[in-house]
Amino acid sequence: MTHIVVLGSANMDLVAYASRAPGLGETVTGREFRTAPGGKGLNQAVAAVRAGAEVSMIGAVGSDQYGAVLRASLQGAGVDIDLLRTVEGPSGTAHITVDDEGRNAIVVVPAANGTVESLLPGDETLIATADALLLQLELPLSAVVEGARAARRHGVRTILTPAPARPLPPELLAATDLLVPNEHEAAALTGIADPHGAAEELLRHVPQTVITLGAAGSLHAARGTDPVLVPAPVVDAVDTTAAGDTFTGALSVALAEGRPVRDALAWASSAAALSVQRLGAAPAMPYRKEIDAL
Ligand code: ADP
Repeated sequence: MTHIVVLGSANMDLVAYASRAPGLGETVTGREFRTAPGGKGLNQAVAAVRAGAEVSMIGAVGSDQYGAVLRASLQGAGVDIDLLRTVEGPSGTAHITVDDEGRNAIVVVPAANGTVESLLPGDETLIATADALLLQLELPLSAVVEGARAARRHGVRTILTPAPARPLPPELLAATDLLVPNEHEAAALTGIADPHGAAEELLRHVPQTVITLGAAGSLHAARGTDPVLVPAPVVDAVDTTAAGDTFTGALSVALAEGRPVRDALAWASSAAALSVQRLGAAPAMPYRKEIDAL
């Protein structure tokens, strides 16, 4: 079985649904409240495990009630959390309001995630056994860089989602095999709005990139080959939360299994297309059988 390690965040999403988001100093009455496990690390871990890999997660949750819920949620999904730390204090939270048009406004408080500033002794040993290491930017950059470098030392493929968007230090780019931004992140990183142009610029820093383009699909570019646009299946999307994490989780599994990159992209697109037709982030992620069937 392929083994994926995720070095990333786990948050409790606290979601209030209201006709509109409040302005500064204003209170509005909402109509519904839900909590759900989230964070890009947790989301990608669940996506990869459902896509059929053995998955381990490195990160941190707090000693509060949310920490216990996040641990149970990962464990319930079948993710190995032996190296997920529990630190004194609150877990990471995302405070989300969703209005009647489905638009959201989000405050993320990293809390426990912010304590992961470096790897612990066992982390590199685990990373060394992986077929791929998945990274995002919701942990301190120092840990992300250290993780990517550790993977590199052991010949483990590194897949980086540069979200939330921020400038990437050269040492991180140098340790990244595959960069998977969405089109907004690609534009923010390069200053180039056109995805083809952005991809070309990104290839100056990493050997391979996939830019996700929402309903328009994804653009694959690698040094020495022509870029390819892989269309997304046409579906009725009801909730695109974590579409990118579903895509990246599935893509990492397909690549780790040695599938040709275009097949891997088509398979990841099927996984993401299934997820956008259901409500929620992790609960909406498809299982391998469903992806194969599409
Ligand atoms: P993110 O969720 O990170 O913003 P995107 O919106 O680009 O990323 O979506 C990631 C992938 O999910 C896309 O490349 C596509 O394969 C799939 N996807 C997203 N929205 C849709 C949609 N409306 N219909 C079909 N597939 C979609």
